[in-house]
Amino acid sequence: MEHQEQPDASHESAWETALAQLDEVAELMGLAPGVHQLLRAPKRALTVSVPFRMDDGSTRVYQGHRVQHNVTRGPAKGGIRYHQDVTIDEVKALAMWMTWKCAVTGIPFGGAKGGVEVDPRQHSRGELERMTRRYASEILPLIGPERDIPAPDMNTDEEIMSWIMDTYSANKGYSVPGVVTGKPVAIGGSKGRGGATSRGVMYMIFSALRSRGLAIEEVSIAIQGYGKVGGRAAQMLHDAGCQVVAISDVEGGLYNPKGLDPEAINRHKQGLGTVSGYPGADSITNQELLEIDCDVLVPAAVEGVVTVKNADRVRADIVCEAANGPITFEADKVLNDRGIFVVPDILANAGGVVVSYFEWVQDIQAYFWSEEDVNDRLRDILERAYGEVETLANEKGLTLRQAAHWIGVGRVAEAHLTRGLFP
Ligand code: NAD
Repeated sequence: MEHQEQPDASHESAWETALAQLDEVAELMGLAPGVHQLLRAPKRALTVSVPFRMDDGSTRVYQGHRVQHNVTRGPAKGGIRYHQDVTIDEVKALAMWMTWKCAVTGIPFGGAKGGVEVDPRQHSRGELERMTRRYASEILPLIGPERDIPAPDMNTDEEIMSWIMDTYSANKGYSVPGVVTGKPVAIGGSKGRGGATSRGVMYMIFSALRSRGLAIEEVSIAIQGYGKVGGRAAQMLHDAGCQVVAISDVEGGLYNPKGLDPEAINRHKQGLGTVSGYPGADSITNQELLEIDCDVLVPAAVEGVVTVKNADRVRADIVCEAANGPITFEADKVLNDRGIFVVPDILANAGGVVVSYFEWVQDIQAYFWSEEDVNDRLRDILERAYGEVETLANEKGLTLRQAAHWIGVGRVAEAHLTRGLFP
């Protein structure tokens, strides 16, 4: 047979991964071809030019995007990312995953995502504020509490959400807290939102440990990415009695088989802005972290870090995807064949959107809940979703990812078929 060059799956983009996951589950569940075709493309994608004044008086212009993948089950919902590598295709993938994430957890939102092609490390806070306000103005026709509700993602935070809320409100002439989530409590944020994604990751790790018959106090954990999600997850898992043996950020990683102390690392990071150089551990690379001998691996940084090139070297028993899309479609098959138990992103990191939903509900009702209520309801929703996914996986012989997509895609398809096609 003639030799045919195979595509290099290690270069699979986030969008290719998202489409391959949808196509696979559409075939498994016998999804109606019309609905499948409809779900393969986002409903709306807006690319905007974002000019803003630099501190020295010059002008800089970046591209920004906002994509709404689907709004059939409710308003679009999804974070805004600031990163130099943002592309429209990446934003489309992240928006599609948001659709399934909301559906599999039973949250009445559709999926969206936004991004600006900026390296925020190159800008002062003042420059970022002006850029954010201009980006918010440019996507203003798409967003709103009944339309599309942004939230923090990589390199965006509570303060950036405040600027978006303020820009939107100034345009309306009155305060509209429900236009964003993940904002400070002082302007209508929810208690518990800051740590919600990490708390959800922890609950999903505990559920996976129960499925595998492992005890919380006996497991060692490696976490890639030490930001809002990974950093807080490290602290929560450490406090719960797990041994966090490796962590990393974009500068590099730390490893100590006897366990790391997140509080001491946080103090080190506060001073230097990175975990690198912390004295109580060996330095490792991000690549080495993925291959550490541990029970649970938690990728909590960027997409596509586990590919066909390194999937056979992952040594964890469980991989819990705190980041969106850290494992490519092909690498997922390798992990599954090797018996590695993967908790998929649309379940593992759904804690953020669940508490964003709580924040939106509290804003609309102007009635605010205690942190205990928030955490208890978060746990209920995530554990129920995990249970439904695991039951379907066992019934049909699927992976957790396939089952989670089956349920998520199924609920969106049902909503489409129930509403009918306009006109
Ligand atoms: P963040 O900006 O707060 O932190 C990102 C961390 O990853 C930082 O420590 C950074 O140094 C590190 N990092 C960046 N590039 C890296 C690389 N190439 N290799 C290794 N480390 C790298 O972002 P975040 O909000 O913690 O988001 C992390 C992931 O979690 C993203 O995939 C995001 O989409 C996902 N997520 C976030 C939320 C949320 O509520 N913030 C919710 C769901 C999913």
